[in-house]
Amino acid sequence: MTRVIASRPPATSVLKQAWSALLIIIVQVIPIAVLVSGTNSTDWLLFAVIYPIQCIGVGVSMHRYFAHRCFKTSRGFQFVLALMASSVFGDPVRFAGKHRLHHRYSDSVNDTHTPLKGFWSCWFGSLLDNGYTDEELVEVARDLKKYPEMMLLHRFWLVPGLLLCVVAFLIGGVSGVAIGVLLGSALLMNQASMVNYFCHKYGKRRFDTADRSTNNALVAILSYGEGWHNNHHQYPTTAKAGFYWWEIDMYYWVIYLFAKLGLVWDVRLPPQEMVNKAFVTGN
Ligand SMILES: [Zn+2]
Ligand SMILES: [Zn+2]
Repeated sequence: MTRVIASRPPATSVLKQAWSALLIIIVQVIPIAVLVSGTNSTDWLLFAVIYPIQCIGVGVSMHRYFAHRCFKTSRGFQFVLALMASSVFGDPVRFAGKHRLHHRYSDSVNDTHTPLKGFWSCWFGSLLDNGYTDEELVEVARDLKKYPEMMLLHRFWLVPGLLLCVVAFLIGGVSGVAIGVLLGSALLMNQASMVNYFCHKYGKRRFDTADRSTNNALVAILSYGEGWHNNHHQYPTTAKAGFYWWEIDMYYWVIYLFAKLGLVWDVRLPPQEMVNKAFVTGN
């Protein structure tokens, strides 16, 4: 029998939750409808340009940089990273607060999402309500408060994504928006949910972390490296989730490229002796 733990009391109003639910439904349903009714080459060209930006916006920007600060960068490039997060309707400040709480309270009642609270907690549920108020999340990400541009983005988090939709509409019409912007957003929402659920339930545990995180190769492939989640929970502030060449971690490759281009620096890596030792012991 699956163990289920209690959830924190709701911290978001019903109206706000309904609004979030509507947005999630729009992002998920419209691309499917357009895929069924027919697409054109312009739609896929938009997708080919925008989807990689959206992926970097989630995996490199919001997760590894804003939540975990695994490298340093300039204030200008920090804002570029934040705008990339916006391309998938992301709010880096809110995400950082929420995700840091996930690591702080993993698989306990205070976690923002855990399979122990049921499937829904991980799959979109935490986007509606994760048990914390907006003020509480911002307080956890208070290091970002000193940047007015980040707080402006926090307040108007939907605006850059909507502007991107306008641009996509002018280039490719409704189907351009659906495939160019919304499809990538829908894929990334499901990829993140997949990590939140499967990588705290199924897979291998290299490290005996206090939580239930796992390394799951299939999820890692489908999420460009995020599925090496037990590695990540052991060393959350390092830029690498995959520790060996066969643990493919495309988000680290992007960080590596950014570092080579001089856009980011002081990239944190897992201790080499640990990597060697885990290799020798075969874990
Ligand atoms: Zn986790
Ligand atoms: Zn993390």
